[in-house]
Amino acid sequence: MGDTMTKELSETGWNFDNSYARLPQTFFTSQNPTPVRSPKLAVFNKPLAASLGLNVSTLESEDGAAVLAGNKIPEGASPLAQAYAGHQFGHFTMLGDGRAVLLGEQITPQDERFDIQLKGSGRTPYSRGGDGRAALGPMLREYIISEAMFGLGIPTTRSLAVVTTGEEIARESYLPGAILTRVAASHLRVGTFQYAARWGSQEELRELADYAIKRHYPEIQDEENRYLMFLEEVIKRQAMLIAKWQLVGFIHGVMNTDNMTISGETIDYGPCAFMDTYDPATVFSSIDREGRYAYGNQPNIGVWNLARLAEALLPLLHENQEQAVTLAQDKLSDFAQFFESNWLEGMRAKLGLFNEEEQDNPLIKDLLDMMQKHNADYTNTFRALTLNKPEEIILHGTPEFTEWLERWNTRRDRQEESKESSIQLMRNSNPAVIPRNHRVEEALEAANNGDYSVMERLLEVLSNPYAYSEEQLEYTTLPGPSPRPYRTFCGT
Ligand code: AMP
Ligand code: MG
Repeated sequence: MGDTMTKELSETGWNFDNSYARLPQTFFTSQNPTPVRSPKLAVFNKPLAASLGLNVSTLESEDGAAVLAGNKIPEGASPLAQAYAGHQFGHFTMLGDGRAVLLGEQITPQDERFDIQLKGSGRTPYSRGGDGRAALGPMLREYIISEAMFGLGIPTTRSLAVVTTGEEIARESYLPGAILTRVAASHLRVGTFQYAARWGSQEELRELADYAIKRHYPEIQDEENRYLMFLEEVIKRQAMLIAKWQLVGFIHGVMNTDNMTISGETIDYGPCAFMDTYDPATVFSSIDREGRYAYGNQPNIGVWNLARLAEALLPLLHENQEQAVTLAQDKLSDFAQFFESNWLEGMRAKLGLFNEEEQDNPLIKDLLDMMQKHNADYTNTFRALTLNKPEEIILHGTPEFTEWLERWNTRRDRQEESKESSIQLMRNSNPAVIPRNHRVEEALEAANNGDYSVMERLLEVLSNPYAYSEEQLEYTTLPGPSPRPYRTFCGT
């Protein structure tokens, strides 16, 4: 029996290290997941499992479901709930993993390190009033959108699996419970640093910063002014990330500082959604009444959040506080330029432009303005330009669009690269499909009724959004007219 057990475990592929658990105690609480009644695998990401070095068939077995539900702790794991704070809609609060545990860090066969977290795994000391659980719909939604983001080439946490728990959870009505296995470069957040700055000692703050640097920015770990460089690196990665969001029309929906990573990965898929018609004021989240996290405001919020990181790091930047503030402000002021250059580069690629010209900015801006004025669909406009089907664009026939097309074509003709390579660049930069809200809803509804095939197909189509394949065609159609605007809710 003992032998079979060891053999079984070694065959699972789990290869945990627990570096986070070696940080000072103030940063976490050891916490096992609370077992659930009857775990059943609902969706499972086989390619991701394989790339993590995990045994796909053992994970698919009953035993695997028990692990992914938190009923069985895999060998080498050291489950814990992380402490963090954060500004939620501008208000500072103590938070922490209220319904998640970190099992540990999986070291892959390629020697990469990924956090393995169970989300919806039961109460922790940070649960406040919550039940520590998650409903199936929101966990499947996170699975779909995070994998779509991965397909789009945008840094993101990923989803390994969703298991149903066999238990019901009380929300506005009773809903099936579920647990998502989230895979992340780490779960270090801006809010982790805010927590350290507020409740930790300066030494603990330094340990956290050194830890984050070692994990995500090892190339600067021996630099004398590494904390300032660290701030700069996070600013750069977030500027790059948010530019990528803007380029595909992704709206995070709840960019609280606890939902912003140090690694530069998109995290926490709650009320997020993709924009249909182009409008910077677009908001989907039912709780974002003032549009704090509107599409067009995401870069502003990005730098606002990074300012909170900078504040937390101040004691490490310089012993003289005034000088520390000057250094931090100087770095923060670079965000706009980092963002702008990433965004411009991306927009040029979307229009098939290789080189840079002065008038590119107005060329892009004029197109966006027209799109806004005429309620043009963001994704499909670029898709139609890519396919050289301007007649499919709602703007077609207007004098301003005709003039714009001519300007764009002359601009493309002026560059050295061939028309073919310009088109190829556009195909690689403009997704043919995005997870459109009505398609996501349709997949979730079917899954709620036990039919996962709709979701599987959607995931397949979204896994390579730049394919421009036959199967993708039906996913490009817009939702029919609806009496109410689409609304999303915080994934609870
Ligand atoms: P989120 O809106 O998902 O970023 O979560 C914000 C905070 O609320 C985090 O500290 C979560 O851990 C916590 N939280 C969310 N849902 C629950 C729940 N059902 N039970 C306990 N804590 C929760
Ligand atoms: Mg969160």
